[in-house]
Amino acid sequence: MVSRVIPVDVFDLVVFGGTGDLAQRKIIPGLYRRYWGGHIPPESNIIGAARSELDDMGYRALAREAIAEYVSEDKRDPEVIEAFLARLSYVAIDAKGTDGWDVLKTRVRKGTVQAFYFSVAPSLFGDLAERLHLHEIANAESRIVVEKPFGRDLESAKALNAVLAQHFTEAQIYRIDHYLGKETVQNLMAVRFANILFEPLWKSEYVDHVQITVAETVSVDGRGSYYDRAGAMRDMVQNHMMQLLCLIAMEPPYHFDPDAVRDEKLKVIRALDPVLPDDIVRGQYQAGNGQGGYLEHCEDPASKTESYIALKVHISNWRWKGTPFYLRTGKRLRARTSEIAITFREPPHSIFDDAEGWRENVLVIRLQPNEGMNLKVMIKEPGPGGMRLTQVPLDMSFAEALGESGTDIPDAYERLIMDVIRGNQTLFMRGDEVEAAWGWTDPIIEGWEKRGDKPMPYDAGSSGPEDALMLMHRDGRRWREIRE
Ligand code: NAP
Repeated sequence: MVSRVIPVDVFDLVVFGGTGDLAQRKIIPGLYRRYWGGHIPPESNIIGAARSELDDMGYRALAREAIAEYVSEDKRDPEVIEAFLARLSYVAIDAKGTDGWDVLKTRVRKGTVQAFYFSVAPSLFGDLAERLHLHEIANAESRIVVEKPFGRDLESAKALNAVLAQHFTEAQIYRIDHYLGKETVQNLMAVRFANILFEPLWKSEYVDHVQITVAETVSVDGRGSYYDRAGAMRDMVQNHMMQLLCLIAMEPPYHFDPDAVRDEKLKVIRALDPVLPDDIVRGQYQAGNGQGGYLEHCEDPASKTESYIALKVHISNWRWKGTPFYLRTGKRLRARTSEIAITFREPPHSIFDDAEGWRENVLVIRLQPNEGMNLKVMIKEPGPGGMRLTQVPLDMSFAEALGESGTDIPDAYERLIMDVIRGNQTLFMRGDEVEAAWGWTDPIIEGWEKRGDKPMPYDAGSSGPEDALMLMHRDGRRWREIRE
């Protein structure tokens, strides 16, 4: 199966923070891959901007290195690389200063799609937005892309929204949550709304509970000072996991249209109950197996920041009343895996005597690794042993099912940048959505801060703190094993 290549319109993309880690690891390699894939018209320009004194050649050399390091060999065609690099240029600019802006103005063409990617610290977003207008570089059609974290609480998120709103309309602002750019995350919507199969069962009457797991093996070493101010709740739950929860729980939008989808997600966030202290387990990894513990990786030896969190969440609406959503995420866990598991209820009446063999139907949507779906169904155990039941997986790896094109799934950033150029905001968070998410998150964080709760220690390479197991055990349920 070959995916269709529909090139986007010619564009000028300015990457503020173009020398930074994100630009070098994701944005530039991602743009190259789309150029290689024929999505980017050759007349488009990419302009790096940061304070470093570089010229165009110097910036191209940086980009060349980034492509060599982060693009797979099969896509590194020397001719295509040279053609791509020829579209790159660089302007030295200080977001807080005055130099460089007039030069930038001459580089951004009128009449082409203009996008400005703010790949810098959020404290600079306001300065960039202001200067783009002051120097009459941006116009009413320009788009700005802003990175996470979008605030650290409701108040700061509101302040950020307000500062951007002074210069750009909501339709011009693309708040990135790269989880929404993942193939499987979008597939969640396709699975739910392009099939009749699941939707009739997609409600508390038939769904016992939902588990959402985002487990990482990495530590916070190297980004400890940022992470220690955030913790798992701010870094993962408020944004990525909230988005997954919304896509699983939302009502069908009337159309696959940016505001229709985002309206439905917002309704889910607004229907979230406050979380009780007993329904929260926070953890912090400790040293082990020759690896440092969290406290060695952050700057505060008495830090109470969580590197792991598990929560039981309820959604108060007709569809989900009575079906808990269990969320967990953490660093330095035993495997790197992200999945959503929907566990269905028991059939109302069993006609088989083999009650012991019976297991619930579970639909598992794997986000990584090996994106795909797995539906566990009951069948008869083969052989002459009478009517005994056994559970088998109907397993589908998207890469296998889609053949060649499935192994070439674009990275989330590539897809999202192309959506910015196309002017499609469906996979970007709206301002009110972000604020509502913080509005739910803030009291939870304030609660544990007020109580002075300390995170529970857990061994690096384990499945998280013991108490997280209890969170489910006491409800007569258990977490799925964390494994690749
Ligand atoms: P970084 O490596 O520290 O890069 C920051 C960039 O901003 C550099 O290019 C830096 O270049 C530029 N910069 C700093 N001060 C500036 C100023 N006053 N005026 C103009 N440019 C300035 O940071 P990063 O990791 O790339 O992150 C960028 C943004 O993406 C942040 O908001 C971060 O939270 C977000 N993000 C990053 C990742 C990731 O994986 N890295 C993931 C998710 C979100 P000069 O020093 O030359 O000016």
